[in-house]
Amino acid sequence: MTYRKVLAAVDTTDEAEEVLKAAREIADDQESSVSAINVLRPMADFYVNLYSILEDKVDIGIESQAVEHATAWLSDLAKRNGIDASAVNVVVGTPAVEIRRMAEELHADLIVLGTHGRHGLGLMLGSTANAVLHGAPCDVLAVKVRVDGST
Ligand code: AMP
Repeated sequence: MTYRKVLAAVDTTDEAEEVLKAAREIADDQESSVSAINVLRPMADFYVNLYSILEDKVDIGIESQAVEHATAWLSDLAKRNGIDASAVNVVVGTPAVEIRRMAEELHADLIVLGTHGRHGLGLMLGSTANAVLHGAPCDVLAVKVRVDGST
C-alpha cells in the first residue's frame, strides 16, 4: 500500500513531535507529502456553564489569537521535522470531526495520530484516535506514544 498524502493530527502535548516524526518517516519511505492539523476547541466550550448568558459575547478576538499562537507553534514544530509550514492547519472545532473533514478536503489517504494505548472505558470514552477511526475517509495509523514521549 502506497500512501500519497499523509495527514498528521497533533495536539499541543509532547506527543505532537512523535506523531509528526512518524508521519514524516512514512512519507519519506513512500515519497508522499505530509500535512498537519491541530484542532482548538471553541472558546464557548470553556464557558459552557455561562454560555446561555454570554452567547455571542464570547470574545472572537481571543479565539483568533489562540489560532495564531497555535499556528506559529505548529509551523515551527513542523519545520523542525521537515514539514512545510504551508502544510500546517489550525482550525476551531471538535477534534475528531475536524480531523476527518480535513482528511477529506486534502484527499489524504492516511491519517496519523497518537494513542496512549488505554484500555477499556478510558479508551471508549476519551480517545480522539478512537473517535477519528469511526467514519474516517481513509486509513488511520495510531502511533503508540509512551508517557515519556518515546514511541
Ligand atoms: P487523545 O486520545 O485525545 O489523548 O489523543 C490521541 C491523539 O489524537 C493525539 O496524540 C493526537 O495525535 C490526536 N489529537 C488529540 N487531540 C487533538 C487535537 N486537538 N487536534 C489534533 N489532533 C489531536
